[in-house]
Amino acid sequence: MPQLTDIGYIRDLLSRHGFHFEKKLGQNFLINPSVCPRMAQLSGADKTSGVLEIGPGIGVLTRELALVAGKVVAIELDERLLPVLAETLGEQENVTVIPGDVLKLDLHALIKEQFPDRPVQVCANLPYYITSPIIMALLESRLPVESITVMVQREAAVRLCAKPGTRACGAVSLAVQYYAEPEMLFSVSGGSFLPAPKVDSAVIRLNIRKNPVCEVRDEKRLFSLIRAAFEQRRKTLPNALMTAGYSKEENLLALEKAGIPVTARAEQLTLQQFADLSNAYDR
Ligand code: SAM
Repeated sequence: MPQLTDIGYIRDLLSRHGFHFEKKLGQNFLINPSVCPRMAQLSGADKTSGVLEIGPGIGVLTRELALVAGKVVAIELDERLLPVLAETLGEQENVTVIPGDVLKLDLHALIKEQFPDRPVQVCANLPYYITSPIIMALLESRLPVESITVMVQREAAVRLCAKPGTRACGAVSLAVQYYAEPEMLFSVSGGSFLPAPKVDSAVIRLNIRKNPVCEVRDEKRLFSLIRAAFEQRRKTLPNALMTAGYSKEENLLALEKAGIPVTARAEQLTLQQFADLSNAYDR
């Protein structure tokens, strides 16, 4: 079977199936032969593992994952790719392709059914138009997985892995920190994809925390405070936090109780400080 990074073969394969790239589905397929083996290796999967892949495309990463993992389940939204995948992955006995939208499928049920007795890793070259919704859905639903290794736009990778107290840190960085320990793995140039996007990409790994990083009485409140604080970064906290539904007086009191200066700005606070603040409200 020819390499799935061979451009001549890919063009022939896609034209035989009458396939045209759909920009709105984030279809940029990997053609750099060194990237997928490296991602599969760094995903942490081994023969005891199950890997959940999102958006297999023509199966270039899927094949590498099938070499290192015990079983791979790949979810693909674009039905036009199903006959292509049947051809490229037909000989891979440990791969199952599931048609569907990753944001609509019941992933807990899917994992229970497909990987009843395996540790699970997620590994994917994500469709860029829904990078954050996918990552946040996986984290917030507390999917029983050990790690999430994904290719995303470089700018998104920087935000997702940003440490509190740095300029790049935003609401999504703190949300990621709450559930996982993020790691920047390596960068990938736009020329590694067909068609080539204008921006570069990067592979990150989110190592899911087994124990909570901080004690929080009300997670919903924590995240609504974080969002409010970052949405209006220029304002001081007592004013910015009003959009989370609290009065300025309540905010001043909670900040004082949590030992946070009222002049502090969102990007200066650690996750622990946000947790202390969240726990300091009376209602
Ligand atoms: N894994 C392939 C590769 O690396 O060459 C393709 C990656 S491409 C960036 C993203 C893939 O996700 C496409 O195959 C696209 O059809 C699929 N996709 C887009 N939206 C999706 C969704 N909501 N659920 C599942 N797959 C989706």
